Formats: sequence, C-alpha cells, structure tokens
Amino acid sequence: MNSAGAASKLKTAGAATVTNNDRVTVVGAGLAGSEAAWQLLKRGIPVRLAEMRPACTTPAHVTAGFAELVCSNSLKAEHLTNASGLLKAEMKLFDSLILRAAEQARVPAGGALAVDRERFSAFITEALSSHPLCEVVRARVDEIPDAPCVVATGPLTDGRLAEAIGRLPGMRALHFFDAEAPIVTAESIDMTRAFRASRYGRGEGDDYINCPMTEAEYNAFYDALISAELADVHEFEKKLVFEGCLAVEILAARGRMTLAFGPLKPVGLVDPRTGRQPFAVVQLRQDNAEGTLYNLVGFQTRLKWGEQKRVFALIPGLEHAEFARYGVMHRNTYLDSPQVLAENYALKGNPLIRFAGQMTGVEGYVESAASGMTAGIGLAMSLQGREEIHLSGQTVMGALMCHTITQTADFQPMNANFGILDALGEKPRGGKKARYEKLSERALQTMRETIEQYNP
Ligand SMILES: Cc1cc2nc3c(=O)[nH]c(=O)nc-3n(C[C@H](O)[C@H](O)[C@H](O)COP(=O)(O)OP(=O)(O)OC[C@H]3O[C@@H](n4cnc5c(N)ncnc54)[C@H](O)[C@@H]3O)c2cc1C
Repeated sequence: MNSAGAASKLKTAGAATVTNNDRVTVVGAGLAGSEAAWQLLKRGIPVRLAEMRPACTTPAHVTAGFAELVCSNSLKAEHLTNASGLLKAEMKLFDSLILRAAEQARVPAGGALAVDRERFSAFITEALSSHPLCEVVRARVDEIPDAPCVVATGPLTDGRLAEAIGRLPGMRALHFFDAEAPIVTAESIDMTRAFRASRYGRGEGDDYINCPMTEAEYNAFYDALISAELADVHEFEKKLVFEGCLAVEILAARGRMTLAFGPLKPVGLVDPRTGRQPFAVVQLRQDNAEGTLYNLVGFQTRLKWGEQKRVFALIPGLEHAEFARYGVMHRNTYLDSPQVLAENYALKGNPLIRFAGQMTGVEGYVESAASGMTAGIGLAMSLQGREEIHLSGQTVMGALMCHTITQTADFQPMNANFGILDALGEKPRGGKKARYEKLSERALQTMRETIEQYNP
C-alpha cells in the first residue's frame, strides 16, 4: 500500500474537522494500533487500519491476528498497589478494547492478568474487523500516510517505513538496540544495608547508592546469576545481542572473580557501618531528576524478568526492590520522542500525525496500548475541533506520556511505575503500601475529574 490511500484527504497541519467520508489511517494492528483505532471508532471517526501480516511479518510475530502477544501471555499485576494495575484501572475508565479482550480471555495467574493469547487476539481482531466504521487493509505501509494518521508499527519497525520516519522534518535518529540495566525505585532500596558514596569521594561524594557484599554474599549471588534462566534470543537478534553490549551474566561466566574486578569492584568505597572496604559492591546510579529511580550500574542483562527479581534480590539492600523496569537486550526501534513528539504523542509541527506504542519509548504490552489510547483520544478530539484532553502527571497514563516527551537526558524506554508519577505533597503514614494506595486513589480521582472536564 502506498501512503495512505486516496480516501483520506485532510489538511496536514492544525486541527481539521473530519467528516464521515474521511478516515484516519492507523498503521499497525498491534497492541497500540488496535487500541488507537478503537478509541477513534468509539468517537465516530472512521478508520482505515493497515496491518501487513500475514503477507509480511516481523521476526517475532507468528500469526495474522491483531494485538498478538509476541512473548509472555501476562499483562502483569492487577491490584492498585502496583502501577501496572493502576494503569489498567485508568484505561478501563476509557473502555479499553485491550482490557475488554483480556477480561474475556483471562486465565488463572494469581494477582496478575494473564490471557489465552489466541482468544485475546481473536476478540480484538473481530471487534475491529466487524466495526462498521473500520476498513481493514492487509498490506504493508512503506510511507507515512497522509494525515490524519497514527503510526504504531512497534519495536521491530524497519525497512522503508523506518527510513520514511527518519526523513520526517525534525526527526532524530531512531534507536535500534536496547541494552538496558534494570531500574528500581529509590524507596524500595533498603538503606539500612546500602550506603551513599562516590568512589574515592569524587563528584558530590554521595552520588551513588552502594550495596556492599561480603564474600559469602558475593558467592551466593554469583552462583544464582550464572545458573539463572535467560530470555530467548530470536535469530534476528543474535548478532545485536552479542555484539551490542556485554551482559552481566556473560561477564560473570568468564570467571568467578570477573565481576568483583569489574562492575562490582569495591575499590575507593568504604562501608560506613564496618569502616572497611567490602568484598564487592553493586552501585546504583540516579536515573531521573526527581531521584525516585536508580539503575544498577553495569547490569545490562538478558535474564528473564522473573529471574531478575529472584537473583538481584540476593544483593544486600535490594531484597525487596521494586523494579520500575527490568533489564532488556533486544532489538527495539524507538523515536527520540522528547525531540520529536508533543502532547498526546503528536508529531511536533503536525498534530495530525501521531505515533503510538513501543516505538514512542514506552515499554510493555499495556503501556503500548495506553499510548495508543492516548494518541487515539487526542487525535479524535482534535479532528472534532475540540480542545484535546490533557492527562495529568498524577496519572500513570499522563506520567508515561510526560516521560516520553520530556525525559531529554539519555532517553530510555519506560514501564509503568510509581516513580514517574508526580510526588504526593505529604507522605502518608503506613509505609510504601499506604503511599501506593494514596497515589492510586489520587490518580483515579484525577482521571475521573479529567473525564468530566473534557468529556473526551
Ligand atoms: C521480542 C520481543 C519480546 C517482548 N516481550 C514482551 C513481554 O513479554 N511483555 C511485555 O509487556 N512486552 C514485551 N515486549 C515489548 C512490547 O510490549 C511489545 O513489543 C508490544 O507488542 C509493543 O506493542 P506495539 O503496538 O507498539 O507493537 P506491536 O505489537 O509489535 O505491533 C506493531 C504492528 O505493526 C505491524 N507492522 C509493522 N510494520 C508495518 C508496516 N510497515 N506496515 C503495516 N503494518 C506493520 C506489525 O505486524 C504489528 O502487528 C517485547 C518486545 C519484543 C521485540
């Protein structure tokens, strides 16, 4: 399919009023594109949904269905003391198609929302394909369609479309490889075990949080690390994974002491509790301006997410660490969003072109769907000539968007987590759980007020 097809002929800048003969082209019927299309359709905006599968496919997809889950079948936690659970609760307020599908395809998974992936995808494919305002086009798109459009072609976008995106005015290079260390929330680090200091007292002197290890603790951690289960590497990723960056578990496999002389070296650090240099030290570096998130220095990893939680909990101070995002090493095409995107994932300079999903720099199935939801609602309101919804940083949907459009220093993809929400004025008594409950209560209240104010 070349460009958008002839039927959508709208102005390409500024808000325009759409008629029922005009369509918004949504490119990619993944998690984000499906949710964006649904939100447009729900608001009476006709959609042309272009999906290249099954004729063409990505190296990770194996079906022709919409919203295929390419790896795990879990949409993560549901409870409101988890940011992913809160995000789902926010999305339900907007009648999310992805969550409707998850509800009816649910399989037992404790406190998590896991789904039968085939039923999940079939529900979404049917809901969109049978919608009277939705035209499904099974064809690969090689150019940015005529506006209005939503581009949601995912982390494996490549070829001519990737080149076309790269040619958009003001577009900065797309990133192609993601080798990220895990990030944990500052408040979940046990500071009765960890201590603040910089090596040899350089910098501000206490820039890093240090987790000191005795020899026995190091050995236990080492043994768990080298025997931990790794995430699959697709054939297409092998070259990138092995040449792109050295994972902590690969480094460890070179010998028991390699980490202790490498990223975990203790030199220049004295544990104030013992007055001595520890056997080894894991350092954590501040990851956001607010100081609510810290990354594990040198811990790029390919361990499965569950294994990261288990193995890294053996690091003194991280026993109860909350992961804002897990370490990943995979191909991941994403935009330099803080440079090129504005509110509601609109392209700077042309609000009738939106991007959505993992390619905007959100990370995860539900996060991708949430960005599709935001982009779809925003674009629908703009096309109706209305003031667009403004999502508060007190909500997960708003905070994720804010992260992607403003996190200028070393922009990296982000999962839903409480660390990116606007801080509470006052910390409630009762510890972390009470604070998360308060944040969730505030987020849902704010979202209800936003819905009342904008009637989106
Ligand atoms: C290998 C891998 C494993 C992952 N595992 C997980 C996981 O376990 N849990 C998790 O939460 N997240 C995971 N992610 C991250 C992310 O959440 C998913 O990639 C998610 O599917 C992203 O949603 P999306 O809508 O942005 O992209 P996708 O779901 O990939 O959707 C993009 C759609 O666009 C179509 N498309 C692409 N190019 C074109 C084109 N030129 N023309 C027309 N159609 C096109 C594709 O066929 C696809 O249907 C993983 C990512 C990768 C790459």
